[in-house]
Amino acid sequence: LDRSVASNWPWFYFLEDYFFPVCLLVIHFFANLQPLHQELYSMHPSAFFLPTFLEAVRTNTEESIASIMTEPIPGVFSFAMLQPNFCDMLLEEVENFEKWVHAMKFKIMRPNTMNKYGAVLDDFGLEAMLNQFMEEFIAPISKVFYPEVGGGTLDSHHAFVVEYGKDRDVELGFHVDDSEVTLNVCLGKQFSGGELYFRGIRCENHVNSETQHEEMYDYSHVPGRAVLHRGRHRHGARPTSSGLRMNLLLWCRSSVFREMKKYQMDFSSWCGECQREKRERQIQCVKATKHFLGVLEGQ
Ligand SMILES: [Zn+2]
Repeated sequence: LDRSVASNWPWFYFLEDYFFPVCLLVIHFFANLQPLHQELYSMHPSAFFLPTFLEAVRTNTEESIASIMTEPIPGVFSFAMLQPNFCDMLLEEVENFEKWVHAMKFKIMRPNTMNKYGAVLDDFGLEAMLNQFMEEFIAPISKVFYPEVGGGTLDSHHAFVVEYGKDRDVELGFHVDDSEVTLNVCLGKQFSGGELYFRGIRCENHVNSETQHEEMYDYSHVPGRAVLHRGRHRHGARPTSSGLRMNLLLWCRSSVFREMKKYQMDFSSWCGECQREKRERQIQCVKATKHFLGVLEGQ
């Protein structure tokens, strides 16, 4: 094969980007990773979700959804979501993946650039179930609460489990997610610490701007309970001081919103700093007008 032909070969690029998932697929085929809980691989709403959650989403009105939520700070919603048995099964399934990855002498299995411990669930055959999870159980909520960031047009996801504790990741620095809407559900097990702290919603231009006092909020995880927030809501995780904490993360994305954002200039419908600047401009404008009128009266 001619060298220039080889470097233009599309598969070459494909493998560069998808090397690890492709390896997993090939090895699944030959080494046959056995699922531990087959029932996780297709959607069984009543086995996965708590009756209160299911009822609220199935009724699918703004009132029914709001009735199961608490909103401790604007834009952060928390609600009881998962059956304890589903949490346990998912934890066992992740442990099963990890054992297998270890036996296959794989070392790299990072769920994202910031977490070292955990697993990308989509790479292990759970992608179809998790897509249905997003479309039928997250999209109805995000359509109501996050319409201005593409909550009504979610069309892809990235799903992973993260692990915190001794011999795992300890904490997670301040960051934003590569998502429009993030679902974060604690799966267990026993732990202390590991609070999720929030520091205001910011557009790309303002991601490093100061936090206002009223934007600070700390959330303590409870197994089975979910937190939903915009991907652009700045946050981090405090150290998990003892035990082991595992969380399911579902980053929900909207290709429509990402395309529209390229042409958008004003993010004051959701960015806290854009809103603050806009208010400041209005105050200055009123002051200038008053001053002008005062001058006229004085004449
Ligand atoms: Zn902004």
